[in-house]
Amino acid sequence: MSLSPADLDFDRQHIWHPYTSMSHPLPCYPVEAASGVELQLADGRKLVDGMSSWWAAIHGYNHPQLNQAATRQLEKMSHVMFGGITHPAAVALCRKLVEMTPSALECVFLADSGSVAVEVSLKMALQYWQARGEKRQRILTLRHGYHGDTFGAMSVCDPDNSMHSLYQGYLTPHLFAAAPQCRFGDGWDEQDIAPFAALLEQHAGEVAAVILEPVVQGAGGMRIYHPHYLRRVRELCDHHDVLLIADEIATGFGRTGKLFACEHAGITPDILCLGKALTGGYMTLSATLTSRHVAETISNGAAGCFMHGPTFMGNPLACAVAHASLTLLTENHWQQQVAAIEQQLQQQLLPLTAASNVADVRVLGAIGVVEMKQAVDVAQVQQEFVERGVWIRPFGKLVYLMPPYIIRPEQLSRLTDAIAAIAD
Ligand SMILES: *Cc1c(COP(=O)(O)O)cnc(C)c1O
Repeated sequence: MSLSPADLDFDRQHIWHPYTSMSHPLPCYPVEAASGVELQLADGRKLVDGMSSWWAAIHGYNHPQLNQAATRQLEKMSHVMFGGITHPAAVALCRKLVEMTPSALECVFLADSGSVAVEVSLKMALQYWQARGEKRQRILTLRHGYHGDTFGAMSVCDPDNSMHSLYQGYLTPHLFAAAPQCRFGDGWDEQDIAPFAALLEQHAGEVAAVILEPVVQGAGGMRIYHPHYLRRVRELCDHHDVLLIADEIATGFGRTGKLFACEHAGITPDILCLGKALTGGYMTLSATLTSRHVAETISNGAAGCFMHGPTFMGNPLACAVAHASLTLLTENHWQQQVAAIEQQLQQQLLPLTAASNVADVRVLGAIGVVEMKQAVDVAQVQQEFVERGVWIRPFGKLVYLMPPYIIRPEQLSRLTDAIAAIAD
């Protein structure tokens, strides 16, 4: 069944799209199928996917092993409540997550989406300090961060280029340190951590946790910073006895060249948020992992448990696909794939630094970012990209790539050629 012009009209009249006006919506392209690294439009055109559907579809679309995992689970049960019940899909997935992540992270909380994983992490930090009998209710984070769209998550997003002004007076006021300036691959300057260190020192007694995106700040500006910053944050959190929450919802599962971005700094957070690529982009699922110590402290507190339990917690279909996706990741050659993508992105994007419209180019792992001097006209640039047979979705000044790991060199070249064409 294909989308008719009337269907597209209905979409425009009745359906919200992400960050899109209902009265003046940007155009939407009808996608009928997706397979491998290609999205297929209604008119039959195929587009090379440069976005992995927002960091998620790391193995590409319509993958036989992921399809099989979903089908097999569907034949057993698609869902069953998680209260008082467990099932093989959740146990297998959580066992794998505990194995893959640093050994201190032993306890897994499954939820519906990245934003909810962040809410869960913040609630864990608050309940942890409540159980320890200390009134610590502030969160310290970095400018240019992005942690999701729900209220708790919004309250720790960058205060200037997010939704803070819209919800002023409603959002909890948290603490924001200047964003890291030392770039990945450049020299380290100890001054870079000074603003963070000062803010933490000043508020140590009231800070429950630090939350940040390790090494790559995603939707808040696609900034790639020096891993030593993260190492120093870990030391300072230890020194002041503050929990560290690593939001690896975007960076997790190999995207930055390490399985988790924290590995660039050799640190372990107290709480780890995972999402996006967790199911290989098949459906929504998130996981928040923490240490035995944090989990037990919360559980021995006044509430006697952690106070959260979504209806679709541990959804078996999502867990089965996530397990298959993680299995693929460990069996596959993601390290070689991501390293090859990184090398090609460096070769083909870094020279664009000299182009007339380009302010900066940054590459890490399977992430390539071209920052323009001016905000791009999304509707127009998107159309140019589609005409060139690629799917790239810019935002603001940023035109960026995070393709599925299985992309072939000639497909990746089509993506970088398309960006080069709008760079001059
Ligand atoms: C996307 C993202 C989230 C939010 O995840 P959703 O599944 O969209 O709710 C949180 N943190 C980071 C770092 C993200 O990139």
